[in-house]
Amino acid sequence: MNIILIGPPGSGKGTVAEFLEKKYKLFHLSTGQMLRNVAKERADIAEILTKGQLVPDDLILSVLKDYIETNQILDNFILDGTPRTLYQYEDLKKWLKEKNTKFDMAIYLKVSDEEVINRLSNRRTHAKTGEIYNLVTNPPPEEIDPNDLIQRSDDTTEGIKKRLEVFHTTTKKLLQAMQQDDILVNLNAQQPIEGMLDEAEIIVNNYLKQKNAQN
Ligand code: AMP
Repeated sequence: MNIILIGPPGSGKGTVAEFLEKKYKLFHLSTGQMLRNVAKERADIAEILTKGQLVPDDLILSVLKDYIETNQILDNFILDGTPRTLYQYEDLKKWLKEKNTKFDMAIYLKVSDEEVINRLSNRRTHAKTGEIYNLVTNPPPEEIDPNDLIQRSDDTTEGIKKRLEVFHTTTKKLLQAMQQDDILVNLNAQQPIEGMLDEAEIIVNNYLKQKNAQN
């Protein structure tokens, strides 16, 4: 089972991906994380990320395909952060078909821009553990030194607005294509984490039930 998670920044893709990864024993592939690693050695990529722009399609496709091939993960993955454009979707679909596999489901995490801005401006990462907190909804424990809490370079007001704008302009056609392929399912990402995870579980269980009934 291969799942795409699609949604604006701050919609909870990472949280849902981690939950599905554990629950269904899937591999979590986060292209944002892959690029943040690449950016440590490439100033040009670091600049694109900080500005909230998308990296070029061919670059992200080669980083992702390399990762999938090197780690032999052609099945049972959750793709978090890709595809972000119609081109990426069509290209990956073709590539997976050549490898005798496919996307089974795209879960669209729907949330308002207002909520995204609210969530991301309060997001902090603990430098030592990588744990992600929200200063309002999921505050770090008291023993954590506030100096160890870092804000992602693209989580500034400007960075957030730019990423939302990019999301809205690039995903419209992508969502339409996924709907045509009959793989698109909506998830209410406006609700607190627990409700979101329950809904994600129902969506995946329904898919598995249907698949079993067909076999
Ligand atoms: P994320 O962690 O998914 O929010 O991604 C962080 C940043 O990485 C994005 O704002 C983009 O600059 C870049 N990025 C991640 N995935 C992609 C992709 N599929 N296409 C282009 N840029 C991407």
